[in-house]
Order: sequence, then structure tokens, then C-alpha cells
Amino acid sequence: MVEPIRIPTRAFSFDNSFARSLEGFYVTWQGAEAPQPRIVLFNDALADKLGLSLDTQDVVLAEILAGSRVAEGSEPIAMAYAGHQFGGFSPQLGDGRALLLGEVLDKDGNRFDIHLKGSGPTPFSRGGDGKAVLGPVLREYIMGEAMHALGIPTTRALAAVTTGEQIRRQGLKPGAVLARVASSHIRVGTFQFFAARGAWDSLTKLADYTITRHYPDLMDKENRYLAFFQAVADRQARLIAQWMQVGFIHGVMNTDNMAISGETIDYGPCAFMDQYDPQTVFSSIDRQGRYAYANQPQAGQWNLARFAETLVPLIAPDDHNRAAEMLTDALSDYMATYKQAWLSGMGRKIGLFAASGRDTALIQILLGTLQGEKVDFTQFFRRLGNSLSGEEGKAGLLALFEDPESIASWLAEWHTRLADETRPLETIARDMAQVNPLYIPRNHMVEQALQEAEDFGDFRAVRRLLEVVSHPYDEREGLEAFARPAPSDFGPFVTYCGT
Ligand code: AMP
Ligand code: MG
Repeated sequence: MVEPIRIPTRAFSFDNSFARSLEGFYVTWQGAEAPQPRIVLFNDALADKLGLSLDTQDVVLAEILAGSRVAEGSEPIAMAYAGHQFGGFSPQLGDGRALLLGEVLDKDGNRFDIHLKGSGPTPFSRGGDGKAVLGPVLREYIMGEAMHALGIPTTRALAAVTTGEQIRRQGLKPGAVLARVASSHIRVGTFQFFAARGAWDSLTKLADYTITRHYPDLMDKENRYLAFFQAVADRQARLIAQWMQVGFIHGVMNTDNMAISGETIDYGPCAFMDQYDPQTVFSSIDRQGRYAYANQPQAGQWNLARFAETLVPLIAPDDHNRAAEMLTDALSDYMATYKQAWLSGMGRKIGLFAASGRDTALIQILLGTLQGEKVDFTQFFRRLGNSLSGEEGKAGLLALFEDPESIASWLAEWHTRLADETRPLETIARDMAQVNPLYIPRNHMVEQALQEAEDFGDFRAVRRLLEVVSHPYDEREGLEAFARPAPSDFGPFVTYCGT
């Protein structure tokens, strides 16, 4: 590839540790020409946090964020990775339509990747066109911002750029590129890529780089690779517990879509569920329900088992059985951590400051009732908190049930349990409103907003939705429609991979 001409810009101060430290782990590459790049959404708050001073009116910035021009200091690379997709192993996936432009340090010295998705074909494209279309780009933008506002670790969108191209999908769609920010794009699949090739030196280098970047305190540990695995599993357990508490379904928990940093990554056919049903699946390609809501904790453990396999030779080079035993213990710790995180998070959702094992049954009985009555998950917890504030709140809660009697005995038991809490009811209600969102990206709202953008180039609904879900806990007048589940004529919701 010809060395690209770099555009001088003060916009980014790149410091590209991955490209510098891990030669051979990527291909140096440049994005495709974009005929008419235009920034359609820009995340000022995130740019500010990253200390970037970007002029969104600057045509060159649109070109840089589309991948067709290379900024000074940027080293665009397509990263190599492998992955288990729906249980089957692909030894080579990699950035087939993405580029890592480089890394920047935020005001506190934290390192972040600036990464493009949809910037054109790369040597990892495997016959794909390397492109992305506007709808899925906006969906990832909205979902990531919503998750961030909910306090859930996630990649975030910096900008959405339309390229001026029409891309063939089901019909022609406007081409777009998502510029996203993550604390890194190192995946379980990155480790699998080198393990599958028996490239142990590379794997060791990758592990040391990742530990230094994400878990620096572990560098001096006696068995740092085991400690690394435990730390990754711990973050993953807490992450998935958080997904469960807001009714988030990732939809494609393949090992190439699991970030070692513990952030939610690669928003494809993801969605939030309305009615509580543990078997909920939205993705059209997940026919077996492998990544259904209730299966996510196990899917996380399965992925971590694949990650563990890559670390066996690093942990005990001369005794793989011993390494496997240690990793197996760490995997059961994952489930224990998950259960604890789930219990304390669910406990807080029902107003308990420190839920203990004896509260598990209370929560399970509640969930069974919600399922039986097909109650909206998000509305229920919000209104449960409101029910502590008086008759009106209580009526609002009961209105969610076809048969209000079905929740009566649970509510009585809950009140008895709340009596053990030392906080007054008003404080409990206030605390509950801080963990139970009112506004999530409702599927019907997301779909409608995306459609207006795709069909008419009208981004007002997307901006409005972003603004609403960016403050998920603050009730505001005029936003009632955003707090409601889909109308019954919205029908069963299906998501498609954005490829
Ligand atoms: P994803 O489903 O986006 O997580 O992607 C899975 C793999 O397929 C990754 O290696 C992607 O880079 C690749 N991929 C997805 N869509 C395309 C596309 N349109 N062109 C080339 N590669 C793609
Ligand atoms: Mg992916």
C-alpha cells in the first residue's frame, strides 16, 4: 500500500501504542474514498472528555472520520482476530470493515482507541464490501450512548458520517461510517487468533501489552496471566449482570465481540426487552436462542472458557493440566461473581441496600410474576419505586398488571422486607429512581428514528432520542411517550445484523 499523505491537524494527538508495540498483529491500511462525507451526528460531550478540539464544519474532519484521509499522527490499521461465532470457530476474522486510526489520551491520561466502522474493505473482508449503512450506524450510536448513561461500561460513538454512497443491502441504503471510542479493541478473538496458530511468543506479547494497558497492577503478580484471566472474568461478570438489570440483550455474544477491557462492544442486533421474558431473542440469525436474555451469563462463561484455553501455555508452560485446573476454578469464580453482582444489583432495583442470599427468592418470585403477567420490565421497577410515594404511585404500578391480584402477596412481602432497611421510605424511593431508568431506547422509537434518518435524511428524531436516553433517570415533562413500551401493533420485533 502506498504511504498515505497525512493531513496536518491539531484535532487529535495520537499516541499509537498498539501499532508501535504489536507489529504483526495488524495490517497497515487506509479507508476507501468517500464521495461526499458529511458528519451527521457528533458527540460534543465525548470529544470534550477526550480533550479533542474538533471543528465539525471542517470538510477535512469529515474525510478523516470517514477514513478516506489520514490525519497527522494517525496509523490506520486493520486488527487481526479470530472468533467463535455461534459456537463455530473461524480462525481468521479481523477488521473486515473497520480501522483503528490510533489512540488518544483523555484529560486524566486514560488511553482510548479512535476506531472507524464501515470505512471500506481490508485484507480481512472475506468477500464482504467493507461498508456499513446508516441505520445500523445510528443504532450503535444510540445504544452505546444509552448504555453509557445507564452507567454500563461501553464503547461510545464520537461521530456518524454519511459517505454519499449508496450501499446494496436489502435494497440500496445510505452508506455511513461510525467513529467510535473504546478503551481498546482487544477481544477474546484477538487472543484466539494467535493461539490457533500456536504463536505463543505473540500471545505472550499480546497478554503483556493488554495487562499493561488494562490491568497494570497485575504486572508484578507472581502468576500474572492467571490474575489477568481472573480480572477479565470479574469485569465480564459484572458487565453482564448490568446488562441483565436493564433488560439489555446483546444478540451476538461471539468471542470476537467480547472485549478484554470489560466494555460492551459491537452493537449489532442488540435491543432492550419490553415485556419480561427470559427467553427473549431479537436477532434474526439467532434461531436457536443461543444468546437469549437468560442465556447471557452462561454465554459469557463459555466465551471466557475459550479465552482461558488461549492462556493455558502461558500460565503453566510445563504443566497444562495444572493450568487448566486453575483456570477452571477461575471460571467458577466468574459465576459466583456474576451471581453476587446480579443479586446486589437486583436488590437495589427493589430498594434493598445490601441484598443477601435470603432475598434471592423474593426477586425470583417477582420475576416469575412479571413473566406470567407479561409486564414491561423497565416500567415495572420504575413504578415500584413510585408506589412508595402514595396512592397514585401504587395505582400506576397495579395498572401494569392484567390481574393486579397476582402481585398483591409479593408486594406485601416486599413491604415487610423493606421494614428491615434502615432508610425511610422516601429515601428508598429516591434511591430506586436512581437505579431504575425511566427512559431506555425503546425498539419502536429506535426503529422510527432510524427510518426517518435513512429514508428522508431527517435526523431530528435520532437527536431527540439520544437526548432522552442520555438522561435515563430524570423524569421530564413531555417525554411520556418515551417511557412507554411499544404499542401492540408494533408486532414481534426482529433485529438484523448490520452487515
Ligand atoms: P460483526 O458481525 O460486525 O461483529 O462482524 C463479524 C466479522 O465480519 C468481522 O470480522 C467483520 O469485520 C466482518 N464483517 C462484517 N460485515 C462486513 C462487511 N460488510 N464487509 C466486510 N467484512 C464484514
Ligand atoms: Mg464484531
